[in-house]
Amino acid sequence: MQNLLVTGGCGYIGSHTALLLLEKGYTVYIIDSNCNSNPFVINKLKKIIMKKDKQLAKNLIFFKGDLRKKKDIERIFEYSKHNNKIIEAVVHLAGFKSVNESMKYPLMYWDSNLIGTINLLKVMQKYLCYNLIFSSSATIYSCLENKLIDENFPIKPINPYGNTKRCIETLLEDIYKSEKAKWKIINLRYFNPIGAHHSGDIGEDPNGIPNNLFPLILQVASSKLRELKIFGNNWDTRDGTCIRDYIHILDLANAHIAAFEYLSKTKSQIINFNIGTGKGTSVLELINTFKNVNKIKLPYSFTSRREGDQKYIVADNSRALSTLNWKPLKSLEDMCRDGWKWQLKNPNGYIDN
Ligand code: NAD
Ligand code: UDP
Repeated sequence: MQNLLVTGGCGYIGSHTALLLLEKGYTVYIIDSNCNSNPFVINKLKKIIMKKDKQLAKNLIFFKGDLRKKKDIERIFEYSKHNNKIIEAVVHLAGFKSVNESMKYPLMYWDSNLIGTINLLKVMQKYLCYNLIFSSSATIYSCLENKLIDENFPIKPINPYGNTKRCIETLLEDIYKSEKAKWKIINLRYFNPIGAHHSGDIGEDPNGIPNNLFPLILQVASSKLRELKIFGNNWDTRDGTCIRDYIHILDLANAHIAAFEYLSKTKSQIINFNIGTGKGTSVLELINTFKNVNKIKLPYSFTSRREGDQKYIVADNSRALSTLNWKPLKSLEDMCRDGWKWQLKNPNGYIDN
């Protein structure tokens, strides 16, 4: 297999994944509505890839389109067919991803995430494309006390965003069962990707004030925000703040390459993989690492706990390590250094470029 479609390829995870796929010589089609991204990222991807090999930049084909419109998806499959580079596999990342927003606008989340996926699957079937890597999330797990989470942990999301991810996994299970000989489906359950490409040319470019910790750290470090509010200092953890499994965005992006290569050489199946480092880091540990690595001040204060927060979410990543030709290589220091480089080079995200 040589030709892939990355839905949501202009977004944070999609742009890094598309870049690595291009570097490997694959043809990468991207469909993105740019509802949460800037199409300028395509130029950035081309610029980075051209430094490596001018020819590779031709392998990036972008279509602006919305998965909620089946015609938009058909257009890109049709184009790939006419150009004799038919899409053989899909990395499906397009969707809304904010927990808070999903609680305010559940219909919008169900519409985009679920209807978008249903349309995509219909078009894939029509064009006989049965290979799929889906962006699921650790948020679907019902977390137990201070235990590493493996793929068999109970699934019990607690917000509409997580519900859409669980529901899509169930849908994929049903699709697989209906044509077991054909489908190859991988659900990648991401933990907490942070950081940016080491060039500092692509990174996370959130709309407005971010909700997640790392983009907030970047905004406080660059004095866009006065201070960071840490949600609770009385959790039952080593320093009283919550623990997460932060993974460098390039390690996460690389997991898609490994998943795709695994999928290319294995039999039809549906399988889930946790994509994390297996190491837990507290909020204070992340802040201190960021301060030390970048030699910068990061004012913070403590505030009350965030509703629905969990104290400890860390992956048991052993299935991914033993099955995929993949392991996370980058340290927390790398994540902090590369994230800060992106922020310094692009203080206003892609807007100014
Ligand atoms: P992102 O918002 O940066 O990227 C998603 C992209 O999809 C955006 O470019 C957006 O414009 C596009 N998009 C959204 N709805 C669309 C639609 N209906 N049609 C076409 N394009 C659409 O988010 P991300 O962080 O890159 O996440 C990618 C995927 O990974 C999401 O599905 C998200 O739920 C999942 N995920 C992300 C994280 C994380 O921490 N970033 C963790 C777990 C899972
Ligand atoms: N967090 C925080 N202040 C913020 C945002 C996040 O203290 O303004 C904490 C949050 O309680 C959690 C960690 O940072 O323990 C990671 O939060 P994020 O929203 O980035 O990821 P998630 O909780 O979805 O894993």
